[in-house]
Formats: sequence, structure tokens, C-alpha cells
Amino acid sequence: MDALTWHAGGCHCGAVRFEVALSGRVKAQACNCSMCEMVGFIHMIVPERRFRITAGQGQLTDYTFNTGVAHHLFCRICGVKSFYRPRSNPDGWSVNARCLDDQTALVIEVEPFDGRNWEQHAAALAHLSHDPSVREEVPV
Ligand SMILES: [Zn+2]
Repeated sequence: MDALTWHAGGCHCGAVRFEVALSGRVKAQACNCSMCEMVGFIHMIVPERRFRITAGQGQLTDYTFNTGVAHHLFCRICGVKSFYRPRSNPDGWSVNARCLDDQTALVIEVEPFDGRNWEQHAAALAHLSHDPSVREEVPV
């Protein structure tokens, strides 16, 4: 497996900033649920320890709907959701590939995810927030 490196990103206005540890080749999901389809969110789901908010924690607003498990965090200044707590992986994070400063630094393979039929498909994503094979590789 590729070594992980930290990649920076943020919201449109720059108030909210984050870093996410990714390997050079990333599998991401394009979800067709009511919310993701509307905003074009491209999911890179990572464990808790591979994500950190570096600025703007206080600018985040939390939107919840339906089961209330997912926390859709968006910047209260510009409205952009650059990452959130996904219902499929509430112990991890889903980071929007579109919000990375430099997407060209990675090979991002986008696969479709059928979020309209979430109950039938969510189990396929559940491992993404707790993959033991990468535990030792997170750089500081
Ligand atoms: Zn913003």
C-alpha cells in the first residue's frame, strides 16, 4: 500500500481549513442521494486519525436530516461543505475531493455509490473508517 501523506483543503472563502492523510491513489464515491447529488460531493472516507481541522472550527454549522446520524458541516460564511460526518461511517470523516487545494497531486478514482438505496449499499462503505492496515502509516 502507498504511504500516506497529508493533503490540505478548505471551503470556498478559506475560513474552514482541513488536512487529510491519503495514499497516492484514492477510491472516491459519487453518491446519488438527495443531498449529494444536489451539491456534487465526491466522498473520500477516512478514519478519524487521518483527518484534522486546521482552521475555522468555530465557523462550522451542522445540518442534519432524516436519521440525524450524519452531520453535514458547512462553512457559515460561504456555505461550502468540504467535509462531514457520514452516516455510513460516523466514527470517521468523508472529505470532499473537490475541496482539496490540489487534486492533481493524487490519482482519484471515482466510483458510483447508490445512496438513493442507502440501506442496501451502506455496508460496502463501513470498513473505510477503520482499516487496520493503515494504522501505522499516518505521518505526523
Ligand atoms: Zn467558507
